[in-house]
Amino acid sequence: MDRRQFCRTTVAAGVAAAYPFFPGCDRNTPTATQADTSIAAVSFTGSEIELERAAIKELGESLSGPVLLSGHPSYDSARKIWNGMHDKRPALIAQCTSTDDVVNAVTFASERSLLVAVKGGGHSFSGKSTCDGGMQIDLSKFRGVRVDPRSRTAYVDGGSLLAELDHEAMAQGLVTTAGTVSHTGVGGLTLGGGFGRVARRFGLALDNVTGVDIVTADGQLRHASADENSELYWGVRGGGGNFGVVTSFEMSLHPMQRQIIGGDVIWPLSAARDVMRFYSDYGKTIPDDLYLDLAMIAPPQNSDAIIMLHACYSGPADRTDKVLGPIGEFGKPIANTIKPMDYVAIQSSWDDTDPRNDGEYLKSGFTSEITDELVDALVDGFEPHPDRTTQVFFQCSGGAIARVPADATAFAHRYASHSVFTVVSWKPGVDRDPHVRYIRNYWNEVEPYTRGFYTNEVADEAQTVVNANYQGNFDRLLRIKEQYDPTNLFRLNANIRRTA
Ligand code: FAD
Repeated sequence: MDRRQFCRTTVAAGVAAAYPFFPGCDRNTPTATQADTSIAAVSFTGSEIELERAAIKELGESLSGPVLLSGHPSYDSARKIWNGMHDKRPALIAQCTSTDDVVNAVTFASERSLLVAVKGGGHSFSGKSTCDGGMQIDLSKFRGVRVDPRSRTAYVDGGSLLAELDHEAMAQGLVTTAGTVSHTGVGGLTLGGGFGRVARRFGLALDNVTGVDIVTADGQLRHASADENSELYWGVRGGGGNFGVVTSFEMSLHPMQRQIIGGDVIWPLSAARDVMRFYSDYGKTIPDDLYLDLAMIAPPQNSDAIIMLHACYSGPADRTDKVLGPIGEFGKPIANTIKPMDYVAIQSSWDDTDPRNDGEYLKSGFTSEITDELVDALVDGFEPHPDRTTQVFFQCSGGAIARVPADATAFAHRYASHSVFTVVSWKPGVDRDPHVRYIRNYWNEVEPYTRGFYTNEVADEAQTVVNANYQGNFDRLLRIKEQYDPTNLFRLNANIRRTA
């Protein structure tokens, strides 16, 4: 679908001048024509539809945030997501800043069967938070976190980033599980799972959700908790964005000291096999208050490929040496940066990876045992390359995550000791195909030693595979989906869908 189809009106200029709230398709849109009263868009079934400009104007009037069309100065930055591989052009972007805005945007889309993408932090690897020709409901301006220290609850607006949650909670000496890169969205991370540096102590981010306000496909605002709409509450905790737009999360918080012990220990890539085996054995002995990731990283130019462990110990200070001692004693590292750190600082220590331009492709899976066969497949097939950064990443699970029954929430993968993914990234202008091919081939060798995958780290899996990944929870999820979103308005996610 080309640009002409989305915004073909010169007089977008006229329209924009007449309706200052309706800033898209303005004087910068060279292909516009005076006569057009509608713009081309795409329905959720993929058919071409027209959106009346008068209706878009009305939508714009009903929102406190702007509606952006192609040509608006903010359109390009708003439509972009973290993974530059997904360079898409929505027909319109509803930049919602309130619950009421979300109700109006969802109603508009639902009445027209419009394709909908919901953008929280925009970190979807698979590009599910943007679309060609539909409506992007952009929550990036709908951010805010309020902490009630007495009830130890955080109230988190739907578009908030992890940094905001960590900052506000820790200001009160409290914490809840968030991911490891602080510009990730609370929304996508929590609805799909939420692994992070205190997850082995306090469970996944979704295990800490005590309620949500959610706008479902019929445009209704609902509260879902253990006492109200309890099936929906069960489903949103692991069912991703399938059931609607979450405008607010209620999350339980836990007292925690601000200072933790954290950092990285780095070895040359030649030690990969030994470090992975150490990681596997030592990982079986660690307490819940130690979080331990492993990364194997080959930057471009084939230089300085490394393997590293990343630790965050948030337990009692007098046990530090006993708990972390084995890491310090293992092998001959190039560097060891483990030291006392501020928790909020370690939470943003990986943040310089937000290019919003680089392309990325990944494959992921869970494993309950880092077997010798898995180590061999990962090490043997790992290829540094001059044009790309290649990574393997183990994120640890277990602890409190594993003590939740598989059917207590929609997240079924409680058996896993680790989530493992392989990812390749490349600079703009570089041909993506060989790099995507490399990961697919590599993963073919690794996948047999994994079981299921993290829905938040999905690339382009077939619908049957996505359904199967919900495991024993699929049928219940399907019933909830058919109750709250019978037309599958919210389909750009790890979609719950009946297959033939
Ligand atoms: P978006 O792209 O905005 O959304 C992703 C999906 O969630 C979309 O389907 C979207 O429609 C839906 N969605 C988002 N917000 C809402 C909402 N309010 N209501 C309804 N649906 C919504 N995961 C971990 O568990 N732990 C990590 O440490 C971790 N680190 C990461 C680091 C990076 C750099 C990246 C790119 C990803 C990381 N992830 C991690 C994966 C992450 O959980 C997913 O990418 C997640 O989907 C990001 O959420 P988002 O809101 O930023 O994404």
